Amino acid sequence: MKKTTKHTDRNDNNKEKFSDKPYPIIIISVFFSAVFICLISYICWYSYNNKQDLVNNSHNTRQAILLAQNSRGSIYSSDGQVLAETTTDSEGNESRNYPFGDLFSHIVGYSTNGKAGIESLANYYLINTSIDLSKKVEAQESGTKFPGDSVYTSLDVNLQQIAYNQLSAYKGAVIVSEPKTGKILAMVSKPGFDPNNIEKEWDSLINSDGTELLNRATQGLYPPGSTFKIMTSLEYIRENPSSYNNYSFNCTGSFTSGTDTIKCYHGENHGTLDFFSSFAKSCNSSFANIGLSLDRSSFGDTLSDLMFNDELPLELNYSKSSATCNESMSTSDMMQLAIGQGTTSMTPMHLNMITCAIANGGTLMKPSVINDIESADGKVVESYSPTEYKKLMSSEEASILTEMMKGVVETGTASRLKGLSYTAAGKTGSAEFKESSSDSHAWFTGFAPAEDPQICVTIIIENAGSGGEYAVPLAKRLFDAYLEN
Ligand SMILES: [Zn+2]
Repeated sequence: MKKTTKHTDRNDNNKEKFSDKPYPIIIISVFFSAVFICLISYICWYSYNNKQDLVNNSHNTRQAILLAQNSRGSIYSSDGQVLAETTTDSEGNESRNYPFGDLFSHIVGYSTNGKAGIESLANYYLINTSIDLSKKVEAQESGTKFPGDSVYTSLDVNLQQIAYNQLSAYKGAVIVSEPKTGKILAMVSKPGFDPNNIEKEWDSLINSDGTELLNRATQGLYPPGSTFKIMTSLEYIRENPSSYNNYSFNCTGSFTSGTDTIKCYHGENHGTLDFFSSFAKSCNSSFANIGLSLDRSSFGDTLSDLMFNDELPLELNYSKSSATCNESMSTSDMMQLAIGQGTTSMTPMHLNMITCAIANGGTLMKPSVINDIESADGKVVESYSPTEYKKLMSSEEASILTEMMKGVVETGTASRLKGLSYTAAGKTGSAEFKESSSDSHAWFTGFAPAEDPQICVTIIIENAGSGGEYAVPLAKRLFDAYLEN
């Protein structure tokens, strides 16, 4: 009895000890299982959501495996013309061909010596294939690679050609886009390069100071000059919603505050101006005066609304524009800022986005250049529909700015767009980029038809002269080509 009791005691003791020990082991097991499940789930989730980046990563050997199995897909214009394709010679050697040479150099890009443009943006699709199994069997039997998926872009060969030809030997950039969809129809940057010769010319391209590889449309930072009066005007309207119409200024060709003087372009004397005519004539003196009246902190907020010093909703490589306005700005800084000079810099693509938002009632559509991805046997693999990015301004503000931009055409610096079969709206700029020099970059940004905007055009021509004289005629050619056919 005693023995049994003892035995039972021992058992109880053992039980106690056992119930002490297994408990933490279970907790630890459960804990590690949970961590393991989380980790696996995360890896699955991450791989799924980032499959494009993972495949595109040059350290991933999967890219090489895919290229050994699939031939790189083609890139097409919006009307189905080949912009890039891979051909195979009789000995099985592949080469990447760009039938339009340097016409689409930056936007279509290249796929050797690194990748750029759409070749980089759509690399994942171009090296993968979505053809049916039966087609794969056929390809295997004939000993050919599987054809990669193809990219159908929104690019318009005719508009691209016009922009390219009109820029002629100048350096600069042209962007043509649809404000209602965000689709990019043309993007030219000069000087360019012939992507057919990229391997051969690589060393001289990367050592060149002509920056041929730089896409000036998205990466070129320029002083916005008078096109920046759009931003200054928006802030003035915001601060004076019921009285901006009462503004009056007498231009004598220059404006002085303290020791700082701002001159009108070529010292022109603009006489008596209201707010609208100050914008139409692009009077620097009047805008320096407007600039000094603005609330620095509020203007800073408006610049943030307009995506300055910020990310852009753009998948192509781009530079961030910069424009600063805060309480510590000096009088001189404020006058320079109001007319888009000083330290302010902007990419043509950013200006195109703001112009598109004005044309689209204040809402910026996310810029896109790919319409859809299709397999070689005609299946739509991925289709992109227009998406709203954000509202940059109210629809009232957009409509006031539209009226002001129509005024630039009717009575101001873009009069070369007047009296046509459509009504255009825009803003010119002649941005000085060297001190003590009258050299200027010619800018124009605008849209047409003003009452129902279909296309938006932004142009910069480096070192050409005035925007009205050099950039506006190019815009006219693009508007004509798009609206008159
Ligand atoms: Zn003036």
